[in-house]
Order: sequence, then C-alpha cells, then structure tokens
Amino acid sequence: MVPPTEAPSQPQRRTPARKGKSRGEGQWALGHREPLNGNERSKKDDNPLNVRQRIENIYAYKGFDSIDPADLRGRFRWWGLYTQRAPGIPGARTGTIEPEELDDSYFMLRVRVDGGALSTEQLRVIGEISRTYARDTADITDRQNVQLHWIRVEDMPAIWQQLESVGLYTTEACGDCPRVVLGSPVAGVAADEIVDATPAIKEIADHYIGDESLSNLPRKFKTAISGSPRQDVVHETNDISFIGAEHSEHGAGFDLWVGGGLSTNPKLAVRLGSWVPREEVPEVWNAVVQIFRDYGYRKLRHRARMKFLVADWGAEKFREVLENEYLGRKLIDGDAPPIPEGPRDHVGVHEQRDGNYYVGVTSVAGRVSGSTLLAAADAAERVGSRRVRTTVEQNLLFLDVPGSEVETLISDLDELRLRARPSSWRRNVMACTGIEFCKLAIVETKNRATDLIEDLEKRLADVQSEVDNPVTVNLNGCPNACARTQVSDIGLKGQLVTDADGNQVEGFQVHLGGGLGHDPGFGRKIRGHKVTSSELGDYVERLVRRYLDQRSEDELFRQ
Ligand code: SF4
Repeated sequence: MVPPTEAPSQPQRRTPARKGKSRGEGQWALGHREPLNGNERSKKDDNPLNVRQRIENIYAYKGFDSIDPADLRGRFRWWGLYTQRAPGIPGARTGTIEPEELDDSYFMLRVRVDGGALSTEQLRVIGEISRTYARDTADITDRQNVQLHWIRVEDMPAIWQQLESVGLYTTEACGDCPRVVLGSPVAGVAADEIVDATPAIKEIADHYIGDESLSNLPRKFKTAISGSPRQDVVHETNDISFIGAEHSEHGAGFDLWVGGGLSTNPKLAVRLGSWVPREEVPEVWNAVVQIFRDYGYRKLRHRARMKFLVADWGAEKFREVLENEYLGRKLIDGDAPPIPEGPRDHVGVHEQRDGNYYVGVTSVAGRVSGSTLLAAADAAERVGSRRVRTTVEQNLLFLDVPGSEVETLISDLDELRLRARPSSWRRNVMACTGIEFCKLAIVETKNRATDLIEDLEKRLADVQSEVDNPVTVNLNGCPNACARTQVSDIGLKGQLVTDADGNQVEGFQVHLGGGLGHDPGFGRKIRGHKVTSSELGDYVERLVRRYLDQRSEDELFRQ
C-alpha cells in the first residue's frame, strides 16, 4: 500500500454553512466533510494529482503489479489513464464478473485538447507516440480529445515528456475534476464569429487545470465555450457553457448555461439569463466550479453530477448563490442568442475571414491511427496549413488553407479516409469506445459503426440525395451515453437482446427522435424497439425509408 499522505486542505466557504433539505447528501458547504463512499474516501486520503509522482518514481520502474489498487482504479484517471478491458473476456456483462477481472495491464490514455486546438507539430507528436507506444491506435473523441490504447505504465514518463515538450498534457483528462474545455473549432477564423473564446479557454486551462483546490469535485465537470453563432459545442449537454451572444448595450460576449448532462438520468442545461463579457469568463467559470465543489452531492455517485443540484435549486437560486456567495456582485442580464439553422459540424470547405479556407473532414466514428495523424499533419503542412482542430462530432478541421490548395488537401486527406465530401451516413454516425477497450461496455460499437456506415451507403444509395435533413445515428456500448444516445435521431444504447431464436445476443435499445438546437429533447425509448447488432442495417434502412416516404416538406426526422 502507498501510505496516505496528508489530506488536502479543504476550501474555505465564504459564508456560514446553511441548513437545508439536502442535509445528508455529503455537501461540504453544509458541513458534511466525512467521506460517505469509497470514491470520496480515496480522494480525501490523497489528492489524486499526487499520483503522477508515484507513476514516475515507482510504478514506471516496478511495473503494473506494483500499482496500489486505489491509485489504479481511482487516482490514475486524474492523469488521463484508465485500465482498458482485457481482451478475450466474454462480450456481455453477466453480473458475475468483478470489474477487476476485466482489467488489462494496459491503459487507455486520454490526451486533453482544450478548445480542440492542435498545431501540426502537436498532431505529429501524438501520432509518433501512438506508433511507438500505443500499437498505432488513436480515436478522436466527441469531446475533442485524442485517446490512445495499449499504453504501459512503464512508458508514461517518456510519453509525458514528449507531450509536454509541445505543450500537450493529460492532466485532469479524466476523474472528478474539470475535464477538457470544449471550444469552437473555428474560433478566431470564422467569418461569422460573434466573439473569439480562445483567450478565455487558454486562461482557464493555464490557471485552473491541475489546481489542487478544484481537483476534488463530486464528479466530473464538463465545460463548453463557443463564440460561434453555429453553437458548435453541444452546450446543452455540459455542466457549464458559455455561448456567443450580442448584448444590446455591451456588445459581444457570452450567454451562460449550467446543469446539462446525459448518461442514465439526462438533463438539458438551463440558461441563467446572464450575459458575461469575455474577460470575465474565467472568473465566472471558477465560481461555478466552486459552487459544484462545495454544494454538489457527494453521497451517491449517480446523483453527484451538477445537473442534480441545478435541477433541485432551479436557475434563479443557482444564479443567486453564484452572485451573492461566490462573485460578490450581480451579473448583467442578457437575452438568449438566436438558435442557428443548419448543421453545426463545419464539414466541407468554408471561407475564413482572412480569405483562406478551412476544410472539415469526417473520420469513421472517430477511429483513426497514429499513422493517419502523421500523414494528415504532412498533408496539411504541404499546403501551408499548420493548425488542426478536433470537433465534438469526432471529426478534424484543417485551418488556413489557401484557396488554390484546397482540392490538393481534400484529395490527400481522402486517401487517408478523411472525407471533406462524405455521404450523409459517414457524416452523421458516431460511436463511443465500446467493448474493444471499455470495461463498462456491453457491446461492440466502433467496428459496428464502420460496418453500418458502409452498409447504409449501399442500402440507401438510391435516396442519398433525398436525405437533405441529416439523420444522426449514435452507437453507445452501455447506458452511459458517452456518444450522446439521447440527443440523436436514432440513439442506440448497447445491451443484450433476444434474437429470433431466443438467444441472448449483442444489440441495442433504440431511442428515437432526440436532438439539440430548435425544440431540444431526448429520444423516446419505445417499447419493443430493440435490435440485434446483426440486424442494425435492416432496421435503420426501414426507419429512414419510412421517414422519407411520410415526411412533409422540410420535416426533420425527430418531428
Ligand atoms: Fe464505455 Fe459505455 Fe461510455 Fe461507451 S457509453 S465508452 S461503453 S462507458
């Protein structure tokens, strides 16, 4: 056992503890400091950020078997490391397998990409690490990160050294802490931008990520900041979001949202009715994280996300506590920005405000490879582009491409299976990690999504031009909804289903008609709408053909 170090000092509240109906939920602000479950105990025993020293000084030399279990299944996450699923363990979760039995001695490593912003140099370093240490694996996640697999603890010091040499890091990429900050992939270049959020994202990342006072939150904390009128960071599903908004008196700034989150008890974020200037975004962000740290529920893990606190308090009380207890001033009232029409994903060729172009290309459900990333960096640099962006749709954007070079880049990327002019299915199918590497998964997702895209491209080739309103299909390996099950047209939640012969096989519970933007809402779980993995192509084809036959003009799938 690693001896517990001194417990981290707890934050000082600004006001005396208040008694309330939530007493007993483990809220620090109400005086409940004693850990009420194992996760809280582990975080109190030792600040999870301290585990990096043990990885570098002990575990990297002594190997996987030397790792303290509390570090392995808890604190490692604060440095982006999860044990990956051991290959060969039966696909379905039976309830008889203990989580430890699913541990492999290899790790998934999440590289944090705040704002989705990468240079080609950084992309190349990720590609090289993938080829050297991760068996050439790389997934672009729907939170703009890059995930690598097959990582050994022995290699972590060298990996961190290489990442940090180009300004990349894995700090708080997972764990109960502020995760990656989502940002508009076209920040600073889009012709229609309301406000460039880049300085705010940079300040949050520089000042608060790795700050011990914010590293023990009740659960994960997700942030999205975009000054694009396309509202391109799925802000409705984050714990906190700042969305570009013009104020009639003060000009360009951000509309503040809190309390979104999906998983097993999904909730859409709510507006606080306040407008925040760009220079105040980090301060307001920090105050909201502190509210979550102090008032968030810590007793039950499944009630610990900030969405439950926001749902219980309501927007009015949340804003009151934010202003009175944490900021010490009133926020400026603001109206909601208009909801944009059309796609949010930036796929294709678009002119920047400086006259160059950005090119958005689709991956296949986020699955690329280190070799692909290296080749993509080369392709970008050949045409003079040195800035790459990841997106919340698991895609890539290449910025600053001269008009004369656009077709060259598109052609080079096409050879890497990165398509600027994809089919509707390649553009609108997403998948989470799934059973290949994720210990919580019940079913396979990435390879299934790849097959499904190719299958639908053939099956629905005759109606491709009619699918003008995109139909999104999101595959998830379990109820956790990492690939946003509930807010897609066809949301697929992995589970065991019964096939025609009465056998339990991999399949999906279907959620139909979810979406964001206008009339946002969660897909309906329709009784009996379960489909085996092998029947997925048939099922989606039937749904899409029925939609095309029966829709009225411009009617969306979810209507
Ligand atoms: Fe793993 Fe489930 Fe998340 Fe998929 S949705 S990555 S299976 S936890």
